[in-house]
Amino acid sequence: MKKRNAMRRFVVGLLLMLMIFTLPSGKPFNRMPGKQVKTIVIDPGHGGLDPGCNGANEIWEKAVTLAVSMKLGKMIEDSMQDVQVIYTRKTDKFVELWERPNMANKIKADLFISIHCNSNVNTTAAGSETYFMGLHKSQGNLDVAKRENAAIKFESNYKTNERYGGFDPNSPEGHIIFSLVQNAFLQQSLKFSTLVEAHTQRISRIKSRGVKQAGFLVLWQTAMPSVLVEIGFLTNTSDRGVLKTDDGQRTIAKGIFRAIRQYKKEVEKMATPKNQDDSKPVNADSSNLRR
Ligand SMILES: [Zn+2]
Repeated sequence: MKKRNAMRRFVVGLLLMLMIFTLPSGKPFNRMPGKQVKTIVIDPGHGGLDPGCNGANEIWEKAVTLAVSMKLGKMIEDSMQDVQVIYTRKTDKFVELWERPNMANKIKADLFISIHCNSNVNTTAAGSETYFMGLHKSQGNLDVAKRENAAIKFESNYKTNERYGGFDPNSPEGHIIFSLVQNAFLQQSLKFSTLVEAHTQRISRIKSRGVKQAGFLVLWQTAMPSVLVEIGFLTNTSDRGVLKTDDGQRTIAKGIFRAIRQYKKEVEKMATPKNQDDSKPVNADSSNLRR
């Protein structure tokens, strides 16, 4: 029995080590992720054969997330000339969960924003929540991650896909193990999450339920600050009223846009050396500091 426990501990330890060392690496440090916002990946949750959650048979999550994402992207493209926006999907198509962060890593994005809608059997549950990677503090937060991570079941080969490191959506531990691993961008992710909740609450009818943490598969392998925004509950009449209308979607997009604007300003200000004459450029993109 003792031997068995020791073996089990060894296997779990080995798994954790593997996860740590298989995290995306090789990101060139001259771009210093988390020090600037030049490339943003917007990830509309679900799509195609994966519809996400449903609101009173009126609307599917995949349609709302796409509409809000496209509005948000347009706002950025229209007013931030130095920022490139990449979408993980622009149409109603299925994108596997591993592919979403993979796109962001490949182009060395500075910020990853996954947009989702919440759902609950209790139809009085309402409000938005912004998540970043970490151990959940309540069963409710874990449940949200479990539901979102279950999208993996639409992928026919997820059990053999090495990119998931043997993740089993049916195992309670599965949703927890990888939430313990990533921490390189926690501070920036927390900062951005806080801004998203503050700004959306200010202008949207949907109230804020705050900033939370849980183990989301789609955030796990991102090599940059990353968040998942649950923009509201499709199962709540009032939230749904906002989420399904063009105006409501625009208000939420505007809240997230304002959060990006403030985040970018603060992050880039902090990365700029105070005494420019004595300081060397902090990264490749600060070449304008050179004379
Ligand atoms: Zn979702």
